[in-house]
Amino acid sequence: MAWRFLEKTAEYGTQSKQNAQKRKIIRLLFHHKELSIPELCQFLELSVPTGTKLVEEFEELNMLVKAGKRESSGGRRPVTYALNSNMGYVIGIELLLRSFKLNIVNLQREVVYEYESDAFDIADKDAAFRFLLNIVPEIVGSRNIPQEKILGIGIGITGRVNHKKGISYSYLHFEHPLTEYLQAEWGVPVFIDNDTHLLAWGENSFGAAQNKENVICVNLNRGLAVSLISNGKLHSGHSGFAGEFGHIFAADNNRLCVCGKKGCLETIVSGLALETAYTAQTGQVLPYKKILALAEKGQFNSAEILNNMGEQLGRSLAVLIDLLNPELVVLGGGFIPVMESMRYAIIRGISMHSLPQLASDCEIKVSTLGDNAGMLGAFAMVFEQVLSP
Ligand SMILES: [Zn+2]
Repeated sequence: MAWRFLEKTAEYGTQSKQNAQKRKIIRLLFHHKELSIPELCQFLELSVPTGTKLVEEFEELNMLVKAGKRESSGGRRPVTYALNSNMGYVIGIELLLRSFKLNIVNLQREVVYEYESDAFDIADKDAAFRFLLNIVPEIVGSRNIPQEKILGIGIGITGRVNHKKGISYSYLHFEHPLTEYLQAEWGVPVFIDNDTHLLAWGENSFGAAQNKENVICVNLNRGLAVSLISNGKLHSGHSGFAGEFGHIFAADNNRLCVCGKKGCLETIVSGLALETAYTAQTGQVLPYKKILALAEKGQFNSAEILNNMGEQLGRSLAVLIDLLNPELVVLGGGFIPVMESMRYAIIRGISMHSLPQLASDCEIKVSTLGDNAGMLGAFAMVFEQVLSP
């Protein structure tokens, strides 16, 4: 079987050392898309004959293909290699309060299948679990993807999640870790994390936070959370719950938050807060994404609401900037379509309260990955876990 080198044997020997090197090659090619043998050898600190031998073995298994020739200033141009796209797939899933999203990517990071449903309520535990259990084999079967080609499934879940233990506490919480049930049912490795942590994982692997060491990733959706990259590492916290930014105290407004407390930042900065403001203005009830779509088309005057939200978000981010001294804040989540117009209000809010030196050292950027960042993070998580040395 082509993926046999994924099996991590405990004993230390030539075979297990070679398998670890092979896992590294696949991981490097997933991130860089194509590399020449000398480049691979440099990354892996291998001699060229050893690197060539490993690449040839992969070629025989049909795992690698020759991608092209690298431009070179002189002499022979080295051939580059890429992963054979249809030799493996990773499934990413996002479970939010009222939405279910599933993507399948191939080894070239191309999305080969997308599915989205709003007819999903994560709070309805049994129905949500049954839906999740059934939809994955249904979709995989309809795409004719053999199970041995699925490297793993990465799931981002809203709420409190302990990535290491595979337990989701806020939703889909059972007697045993959620990952145990899903792995037993699907027969492939399953990894879970909080949806905002995966967003940061995506930004750090493929987006604005690539090669950055200290970053705050904002996930402004129906709720609000942040993910912190500190000294190059995702900061999960003691129990894995770090980043509950939406539930810090922000206003004496007596408004009840979904967490059961009053005055949380999420009661004034979130899709939920937008829904409340929309209903107060129009007397109608709409999900926040539909309200944002109306605002984009000029069919709902949201300028003042979004300005106020942006400024308040900036004021609260100022606290984090003073505490953590980040080099970058990435603004992401479902609000991305209007984020560029909110950016100035956010910067205004930050400059009101953050120390000038810290604020001027910190860039504020809107995510270029769109609302796909979390999904890309799910793929990166699976690759990291399955292909770790
Ligand atoms: Zn709250």
